[in-house]
Amino acid sequence: MHVREHVLHKPRVLLVTTGGTITMLRGANGSLYPCEDAGQLLEKIPELKLLADIDILSLANVDSSDITPTIWLTIARAVYQRIKDYDGFVIAHGTDTLCHTAAALSFMLQELNKPVIITGAQVPLEEIGSDGRTNLINAVRVAISDLAEVVVVFGSLIIRGTRAKKTSVFDMQAFISVNDVPLGTIGLTIKFSSFAKTRSRRKPLLRISLNENVALFPVYPGMKPEIIDYIANTHDGMVIEGYGAGNIPTGEKSLIPAISSAISRNVPVVVCTQCIVGSTEMELYQVGRSALEAGAIPAMDMTPEAALVKLMWVLGQTDDMGSIDSMMQKCFVGELHEVS
Ligand code: ASP
Repeated sequence: MHVREHVLHKPRVLLVTTGGTITMLRGANGSLYPCEDAGQLLEKIPELKLLADIDILSLANVDSSDITPTIWLTIARAVYQRIKDYDGFVIAHGTDTLCHTAAALSFMLQELNKPVIITGAQVPLEEIGSDGRTNLINAVRVAISDLAEVVVVFGSLIIRGTRAKKTSVFDMQAFISVNDVPLGTIGLTIKFSSFAKTRSRRKPLLRISLNENVALFPVYPGMKPEIIDYIANTHDGMVIEGYGAGNIPTGEKSLIPAISSAISRNVPVVVCTQCIVGSTEMELYQVGRSALEAGAIPAMDMTPEAALVKLMWVLGQTDDMGSIDSMMQKCFVGELHEVS
């Protein structure tokens, strides 16, 4: 795979701004808030223009705590509508929900024939020690490479959109690739893994049907089963972060009757692990098997973020419980390793 930094015709890149620390300013009270003219801040990085002809499109201007599924749809549509006009896309985003957006765009923009990069920063571009400048430059370098997937570029890693996880509020390497090798590393040069998809004549697909009425929550000692009843009554699906291999309390405060009742009312219950690394293995312990026997769907090695977004995406397409089960356990965009 090539990094195309020295070509005759400058590649064209669309830089989408959505807010986030990278373009934030510090207010008089010391808190960071989204800068109104994010595009103007980005103008301060002249290297970007050496790499590519860059257009800037502002689609939101929020702390990413305020990102909603509606904004995911706006970004996906904007990229898809302009897919022929640019060689690559860079989305500047807050780090807090960057993984959710990366997963959402991965499911919504399939069969990509060019790269869609999501990046951000731990320290605002305007402040000393910012990682924003390097992250943006590296994002544009990857956006003009031969890669053709939705990826997160942050620090020294290139991570598949469905595998990214924010693991640090302190380190400049804020994201890791969970349960899969990174798609590339950035050092003196950019090295891509052989698993990364490359540019081709594929015809991109926009698959934006989404049912956002899905909940995600962890189990914890003493959790009341009524919480699951409440969620089943108010949502169309839920992802439960079980313990370890996908274990669910079955004792005095058993959650199993509430899970069975939700499933009997056609509210799918997906179980992932609250551990960062590893896969659900729900037959391993009786406490996991009980949930499986009640009809819970194992998320296997999907991150909670990917499982949540995927369930929204699957429920946007079907409400048939059998299809939901099989789609959740099928790999669409590298989000899980299928069990054969
Ligand atoms: N709260 C910020 C955001 O997600 C954090 C960041 O961007 O690093 O927008």
